[in-house]
Amino acid sequence: MSLFAQTLKQMEDASNLLGLTNDAQRILEYPERILQVSIPVRMDNGEIKVFEGYRVQHSTIRGPAKGGVRFSPQVDIDEVKALAAWMSIKCAVVNIPLGGGKGGVAVNTRDLSNRELERLSRGYIRAIAPIVGPKKDVPAPDMYTNPQIMAWFADEFSMLQGHNTLGVVTGKPIEVGGSAGRGAATAQGGVYVLDKYIKETKGNPKTAIVQGFGNAGYHVARMLHEKGIKVIAVSDSTGGIFDEKGIDPYAVHTSKVAHGSVQDLPNVKKIRNDDLLALPCDVLFLAAKENEIHKDNARSVQAKIIVELANGPITPEGDKILAQAGTVVIPDILANAGGVTVSYFELIQNEMNFYWSEEEVQERLKVIMEKALDEVLDTQRRCYSYSELDNTGEYIKHAKQPDMCHRITLRQSAFIRALQRIETSMKLRGKI
Ligand code: NAD
Repeated sequence: MSLFAQTLKQMEDASNLLGLTNDAQRILEYPERILQVSIPVRMDNGEIKVFEGYRVQHSTIRGPAKGGVRFSPQVDIDEVKALAAWMSIKCAVVNIPLGGGKGGVAVNTRDLSNRELERLSRGYIRAIAPIVGPKKDVPAPDMYTNPQIMAWFADEFSMLQGHNTLGVVTGKPIEVGGSAGRGAATAQGGVYVLDKYIKETKGNPKTAIVQGFGNAGYHVARMLHEKGIKVIAVSDSTGGIFDEKGIDPYAVHTSKVAHGSVQDLPNVKKIRNDDLLALPCDVLFLAAKENEIHKDNARSVQAKIIVELANGPITPEGDKILAQAGTVVIPDILANAGGVTVSYFELIQNEMNFYWSEEEVQERLKVIMEKALDEVLDTQRRCYSYSELDNTGEYIKHAKQPDMCHRITLRQSAFIRALQRIETSMKLRGKI
């Protein structure tokens, strides 16, 4: 099943539970706008090379489209459409007034010099300039794009406009309109959600594992370590390391920066990536990439709680197996929404030309993430208690398949919250 088909399946599943009108469902099956561009780049050797890029705006019903840009050889239109749709849902889960977008260029950035990367970045934003802008669609970093690339995007777009338009992208360096706290925002949001979940369920996690020791994974490992939760294993694309006494994320980071892999840390046991997923632990953070837990390995997962910092790290089949086993999954559309939330803060600060301290950013982020978790839990509880409620229950009234209400997962619950908000906006704006 393609990634976009998977996303539609998740929406359909939640729509059926919610009783979303067919009209709203049909609209969400189609991105509002798809732009495919070609980007000719003069390479350092004098040749012209042409790269293919995309920008997809899935839904702008709740506000300007928002979503990152990926520079990766695997980028194709199906992946960009799926990621754009997830952004529409994610912004609605945390209730920020933005829609969903995503972009990408099919390129291996390792094959480019820094000057070639700059020319490609400037070429891409020029090509998509007609459809982006602070009030239309605001790109941000994603895999293999970074704050420097965002600075080039903002500069090129500002030159086209004839004035500074820094709010055209987020995830910029602080010196050119970036927000304090953006670098660690995705991890921080995930930790706020986990903390609140633990408080609500009176849990007491002692051990954690982090798959994917990149930007999100490193920050989350460091935050867990600082809170006294023992990080017993971490991994990157080259493999993993394990130490039941606990691993110091700062030491792993320093060693990875110096030598390139988490496995370069001395005096720890090296493990394979598949083995890391099967280790017993209280919380497993997935911070690598899509489809890492699937029907063939989901049964071996022993973690009690999984937090999805990556987008789509569990396939629908894997999700079902985990739900049957009673593993709690805090879904990507909630758990990793800290990144887009601080991007939203960056956009606001750019528009005001007035900047907040890191403490202010974190305080606001905490409020939004905790509220979103509360709402998702509340929806889940209402659905669980279906048989005890009469016909006045909000979700009961609409549920087409009430039996399923007993078993909804946090993912379904988050989708329900989001779709309900999107449908309400569509109705109020007279679209359906
Ligand atoms: P990143 O490129 O900095 O890190 C990804 C890490 O995962 C790298 O260390 C890579 O080596 C590792 N990895 C890749 N395949 C692996 C595998 N099979 N097993 C173990 N490790 C593997 O990327 P990031 O910015 O940290 O993003 C990670 C995920 O989180 C992505 O899915 C991204 O879309 C999602 N996400 C990131 C943000 C953000 O603000 N950074 C926001 C929302 C979602």
